[in-house]
Amino acid sequence: MWCDREMRKDKSSILDEGESMSSTVYFVDARENNTPIVKRLGALVEHLSGDDSLSGNIAVKLHFGEMNNETFIKPFHIKAIIDSLSNLHKNAKFFLTDTTTLYKGERFNAIDHIMCAVYHGFSPSYMGCPVIIADGLSDEGVPVSENVEIAKVIYECDAMVVISHATGHGASSYGGALKNVAMGCVTKRTKRWQHEVTKPVLNEDICNLCGNCENACGFNVIKIEDGKIHFDSENCIGCCACIAACDVGALKTAENASELIQKRIAYVASEVLKNVRAYFINFAIHVTPFCDCAEMSPRFICDDVGVLASSDPVALDNATIDLIGVSAFEGDPKVQLREAHALGVGRLSYKIRKI
Ligand code: SF4
Ligand code: SF4
Repeated sequence: MWCDREMRKDKSSILDEGESMSSTVYFVDARENNTPIVKRLGALVEHLSGDDSLSGNIAVKLHFGEMNNETFIKPFHIKAIIDSLSNLHKNAKFFLTDTTTLYKGERFNAIDHIMCAVYHGFSPSYMGCPVIIADGLSDEGVPVSENVEIAKVIYECDAMVVISHATGHGASSYGGALKNVAMGCVTKRTKRWQHEVTKPVLNEDICNLCGNCENACGFNVIKIEDGKIHFDSENCIGCCACIAACDVGALKTAENASELIQKRIAYVASEVLKNVRAYFINFAIHVTPFCDCAEMSPRFICDDVGVLASSDPVALDNATIDLIGVSAFEGDPKVQLREAHALGVGRLSYKIRKI
């Protein structure tokens, strides 16, 4: 069942079939079958699509990976999904999309972002569809509530397939489908609103003045001068780039920051999904402690789990976290799920159907 825009506007509709009902999560298990994952993605997409048909302009929401990140979902996996979708939905035109980042990296503006996507292999000639950056050259969005602006291209598309790399996250404990929607489908202003609560706290006692954070901060908020570290908290946007860059843990978010940002993620996801018809695929392979915004050598928090898909992002993220193992994450990764469920985005209860 696709998540319809009108159905999403009525927050109660997904729940009024009964709280006890569970959502189906389709699962390609990486641990049980010798057939490569890429060869099983077509069947996964077929089960997920069911009898539904898609037409018009369909956004495939990805994270193309920050420059020098090596664990983003690979183009050949995405291509297998798009080829299957294209075969199933002849009247649909697919495009790959993401929004520009809040932090000043290699995806901060649309031009650099497209070049980064192409560098990572997402070229139109290979993928068979173009890359369109959803907030355009000038951070264009459509306001849908006081703090939420949906990136214009995503607001205008006819439906969205959200493909997420499930990972840990320095601020939100876990990042999957809900976070991909909340942080990845909105303008910089809405990203900033979510991140306001995650300004880092500095422990000078363990800081070795290496300068990694100064290099990572695109906002000149941290400076190493005269043998001291200076942190201008007032002008910090809470993007967390410095936290990922600090090898010794001298920069951390405040104690309740994870809970606060997860609640904002749930709220923004609910606002986006009231307006955009969507379904969801999570890759729980190469599961890293940080998201694909991080430039880092691969380190994994669990063995590969597989690929999961559902029309319900809450059930999907819940199943993904359970299969990875809750203890693999820093803090409680399920705050965002409980909040999203309370907002009517989906069910916590799921049943797994193996493909
Ligand atoms: S200090 Fe850290 S969290 Fe704040 S803006 Fe700079 S990199 Fe982002
Ligand atoms: S990255 Fe960490 S250790 Fe290095 S200067 Fe910044 S706070 Fe200190």
